[in-house]
Amino acid sequence: MSYVLTCPNCGVREVTDFGYGGEVSARPASRPTRRELNTYNYFRRNVAGVQREWWFHRSGCRVWFVAERDTTTNEVDWTALPAEAPGTNDPQTPEAAKAGGEGLRGKAGGERSETG
Ligand SMILES: [Zn+2]
Repeated sequence: MSYVLTCPNCGVREVTDFGYGGEVSARPASRPTRRELNTYNYFRRNVAGVQREWWFHRSGCRVWFVAERDTTTNEVDWTALPAEAPGTNDPQTPEAAKAGGEGLRGKAGGERSETG
């Protein structure tokens, strides 16, 4: 299904210009439990309705931004740069989350001795 998204920098573009980054999810505390980390990494609400998502302007300014989209109609309520998105505290782009995840795994490395 084709629809349009508004890049906060470039304006209205076809959705094919963008890459989908998944739901915006709350970042766990600085020292999350294993359960919190697993929830953050693997569980998605996948709602039928309005959901906050990451999008990447792949064919344009190559910036990550946040959009609220109704997943049933593909109507986009608004888009904003992460710093300007309402009600989002310190949102982490999917790329930054990936890097952070590796860091957390590294810190938990000591626990690996139980298997080896
Ligand atoms: Zn753009």
